[in-house]
Amino acid sequence: MAKKPVIGILGGGQLGRMLQEQAALLGIELVVLDEGNCPARQINQNDKHVTGSFKDPEKIRELARRCDVLTVEIEHINTEVLEEIATVGVQVGGQMKKVPVHPSWETLRLIQDKYLQKVHFEKERMPIAPQMPIEPGASMLDSLQEAAKTFGFPFMLKARKGSYDGRGNFKISRPGDFEEAVNVMRKLSLYAEKFLPFQKELAVMVLRTENDEGELKGVYAYPAVETVHDENICTKVFYPPRGVPTGVCEEARKVASGVARTLKGRGVFAVEMFLLQDDTLVINEVAPRPHNSGHYTIEAIPYMSQYKAQLYSILDIVPPSIKLQPRVSGAIMLNILGGAAQDSHESLVDLTQSLYDSSMDIFLHLYGKSSKPGRKIGHITVTSYSPDANLEQLAAPLIKEVDHIRQ
Ligand code: ATP
Ligand code: MG
Ligand code: MG
Repeated sequence: MAKKPVIGILGGGQLGRMLQEQAALLGIELVVLDEGNCPARQINQNDKHVTGSFKDPEKIRELARRCDVLTVEIEHINTEVLEEIATVGVQVGGQMKKVPVHPSWETLRLIQDKYLQKVHFEKERMPIAPQMPIEPGASMLDSLQEAAKTFGFPFMLKARKGSYDGRGNFKISRPGDFEEAVNVMRKLSLYAEKFLPFQKELAVMVLRTENDEGELKGVYAYPAVETVHDENICTKVFYPPRGVPTGVCEEARKVASGVARTLKGRGVFAVEMFLLQDDTLVINEVAPRPHNSGHYTIEAIPYMSQYKAQLYSILDIVPPSIKLQPRVSGAIMLNILGGAAQDSHESLVDLTQSLYDSSMDIFLHLYGKSSKPGRKIGHITVTSYSPDANLEQLAAPLIKEVDHIRQ
């Protein structure tokens, strides 16, 4: 068998770490650009790693010199350098070496700006929440008033770039909120979005394959899951979604597959959606990489977890007949978010051990990160093979403890 290409990854957080776990099983070499003690490098001592920031152009070029294909674990990166590396190349011993980037730098650039991302989906006739750009500087207040007139209250004020875990979101409920919104958000490039009183949030991971000429080969959707957010941050994921008709879940998979078809490059994509009261779906945003809503696939779809799919897609070795059907009847993923104290989550870890002999399987993942309030430091997946098991009830002590830590 030909030697597998070396994959370079920008960012070595928990997603990079879980990708590394899978790469190790498959004998795939992963080279990480991030700080020396990042979660991915803690479990992979490759001496080709590049130490530094994944935002630093020179470090990205250095990573490109050391690998055959580049990927990312985060979309908030410098796409100008990635474009240069993919199209012009990087200097190696007096020669230029082009390194492909997956997903495409064009996709990363588009998705990086949440406003432009949705302009793109709207052009493709896909459902999004009504949105408008917000003017910066002295015009910001007028612009907010305009948004309130168009959308009514409440509406969402959002950072176009760089946000995660809801950190760039500000809900404006009344004119009295304008002043604080200006103070908190004025340094950011912004847009406003109609607030959608959804019944649930769903997400679908999609695997996209492409040949070396950049032509689409296939799009494969994982099952729909329900994501639960508390204060803008994902805390729980349910497979299957609770109380959502099968037809709606299938529709969500179709929407997500349609989204992936409009993008470029190989890899997995997460499509976050709102399920409205009338059972219609609206796209919230897309993540061009493995995603929190797909962690459950490690145990639920072990033959093709989202991490394995990411590697297979990048290397273009996805079997065309692949079916992404879970091997379990149900799964729940609980994020472990840091609490008020460094060790707030220890009681939860103890609890997973004390529940080990019950009728569900419990899988604890800790990312090797120090704890800070609200920081994602690990997750727990519980699964059941029995269609009759009430997994939510079985997992109730864990769910209660996860919620308790955050308070
Ligand atoms: P992520 O960590 O998923 O990248 P983010 O910082 O990009 O998060 P969003 O996905 O835009 O933020 O929003 C986070 C959450 O805030 C959503 O999952 C949803 O719960 C809520 N939210 C965002 N936009 C709206 C909206 N227009 N109407 C109602 N709720 C919303
Ligand atoms: Mg986001
Ligand atoms: Mg989101």
